[in-house]
Amino acid sequence: MYMGKTNVCENCKFWNETGGTDEGLVGECRRNSPSPKTLEGSPDTIIRFAVWPAVGQTQWCGDYEERPMETKEILERMAVIEKLESARKAKRAS
Ligand code: SF4
Repeated sequence: MYMGKTNVCENCKFWNETGGTDEGLVGECRRNSPSPKTLEGSPDTIIRFAVWPAVGQTQWCGDYEERPMETKEILERMAVIEKLESARKAKRAS
């Protein structure tokens, strides 16, 4: 089981979650533009498309950049801090 490392794809600002498996979440790395690919379909048909690298949630690379917290996350963390601070003050007062 994965433990501890936080500088991983799922926390990176370039991660785009696309799904999951029994092994964990899967996403696209959008650090760079997608790569063009071709697929031969029926005769005389070539399908052209573009793909981003698929990465697992615990993978990482040297281009990692922390994903900024969203407003909701910030407010939730502030509420936890305020609750802890209130509990600490109440304990001191008693
Ligand atoms: S491969 Fe690197 S840049 Fe891409 S999501 Fe993972 S850590 Fe971020």
